[in-house]
Amino acid sequence: MPEALRAQIDRAAEIISQAGGMVIAAGAGMGVDSGLPDFRGPEGFWQAYPALGQAGLGFMDVANPRAFGRTPDLAWGFYGHRLALYRATQPHAGFGILQRWAKGMNAGATVFTSNVDGQFQKAGFDAERVYECHGSIHHLQCFNGCCDDIWPADAFVPDVDEARGVLRNEAPKCPRCGDLARPNILMFGDPLWLPARSEAQSVRLEHWLAGARKPVVIEIGAGTAVPSVRNFSQQMRIYADAGLVRINLDEPQVPSRDDVGLPMSALAALRAIDEVMNAL
Ligand SMILES: [Zn+2]
Repeated sequence: MPEALRAQIDRAAEIISQAGGMVIAAGAGMGVDSGLPDFRGPEGFWQAYPALGQAGLGFMDVANPRAFGRTPDLAWGFYGHRLALYRATQPHAGFGILQRWAKGMNAGATVFTSNVDGQFQKAGFDAERVYECHGSIHHLQCFNGCCDDIWPADAFVPDVDEARGVLRNEAPKCPRCGDLARPNILMFGDPLWLPARSEAQSVRLEHWLAGARKPVVIEIGAGTAVPSVRNFSQQMRIYADAGLVRINLDEPQVPSRDDVGLPMSALAALRAIDEVMNAL
């Protein structure tokens, strides 16, 4: 390992060990070490979903409320496959490392994520301390916006024909009007997304911040293409006076010399920092 990177890892361990609380800000890169696709570029997306490639549909076409109106079988084929995948996925060891660090801090940890996969809750993070800014695939809402209900997707077990990319069984329905239900996820061009669940999570994060002294933001796998998570980290630096440890394979640049940027994958970086922390 290069000397400069070694020094950055040491510095990250120092910042984290002195923090009174930890804000984990995670993007799609967090899930890669668990084997989840991050949909970077059309090739990566179509490799994961070849049937959509054949239909000429990219991520922005199918992660789109209009897809549920035009081609509900394909839209639910895509989301149903992801729902089943996330249910079956075991979060990688980096989640456990973060939980261990949080135990040593007065305020513990809170999570801000653009991921809709529910992997933090699955790894044992307190659901009351997860803010999913783009919603969650594990919750549903009415497609036509008849009501403000958001309900768990637990009862829906998707059966997806992977070769054709379509849902084989019946799609979930809105219990109020009987129309199609859709994931409670903020999609592209999506005025009907119901934000109430995410907004309640946001309020809880505000409360947590008010009680956390000297927090550190550990930002993981969040790029500039969909900047929600990076914007959040920058705000934390300014408004919560938080230190920043940014873990990002391709875009590790940080705003100031006080911050740390590690050009590594999530798990490799967390393990490297953990080794140093254990020796402190
Ligand atoms: Zn409805």
